[in-house]
Amino acid sequence: MGSAAKDANGSFTAEKKVVVVFVLGGPGSGKGTQCANIVEHFGFTHLSAGDLLRAEIKSGSENGTMIQNMIKEGKIVPSEVTIKLLQQAMLDSGNNKFLIDGFPRNEENRAAFEHVTKIEPEFVLFFDCSEEEMERRLLSRNQGRVDDNIETIRKRFKVFVESSMPVIEYYNSKGKVSKIDAGKPVDEVFEAVKAIFSPYNAQSA
Ligand code: UDP
Ligand code: MG
Repeated sequence: MGSAAKDANGSFTAEKKVVVVFVLGGPGSGKGTQCANIVEHFGFTHLSAGDLLRAEIKSGSENGTMIQNMIKEGKIVPSEVTIKLLQQAMLDSGNNKFLIDGFPRNEENRAAFEHVTKIEPEFVLFFDCSEEEMERRLLSRNQGRVDDNIETIRKRFKVFVESSMPVIEYYNSKGKVSKIDAGKPVDEVFEAVKAIFSPYNAQSA
C-alpha cells in the first residue's frame, strides 16, 4: 500500500509503509488464536503486548518485578515500557505489516503510542465476546499464567470495560473498527476475520 513499490522480481524496493492493525477484545476473546491464523494467511507479524511483557519478566530485566506484579493484579503496565518493547519487536521483525494484539489498553496507551511512533492504525479488529464465554475459556485453557485465576480474571474484565472499551469507542467514532462475533468456534470466527482481511490484502499485494 501507499509508498510501497515493486521491482521486476516482485520484491519491495521503495521504503515500505508501516501497516498496523490493533487487535482488541476482552481477555479470552481469542485474539492470540486468531492472530496466529492471520499470520499464516496474510503475512503479518504478530506482536502480543502481553507476551512481550511476559518475555521481559523472564529476561531478568530491572522492570521484571514491577511488570509481574501488575499482571498479577490485571493492571496496565506503564505505556513507556510496553511501547519500547513493541518498537523493538517491530524493528527486529524486518516486516512492515503488524498485528498488535492486546494494545492499546487505555487512552493513555493509545495517545502515547501515537505520539511516540507517529503510527495510526489501519483499522482495529475487535473481538466481541460475552464475559461468561471468556471466563469459561480462560479457566479451561491452563497455560500456567499467574492471571488466569478467577480473582484476577474478574479484575481484568473490569479493566477491559472501564479502560479498554473507551479505546475501541474512540476508533469506532473514526469509523475504524471491524467488529467480530467472537463467541463462536475458532473456524467460524476465522471465516469472519478472513472476510475483513481479504480485500485489504488484495489492495496491498
Ligand atoms: N498488559 C499490559 N499492557 C499491555 C498488554 C498487557 O499491562 O499492553 C498486562 C495486563 O496486566 C494484562 C496482562 O498483561 O492483564 C495480560 O495481557 P494479555 O494481552 O496477554 O492477556 P489477554 O487479555 O489477551 O488474555
Ligand atoms: Mg492474549
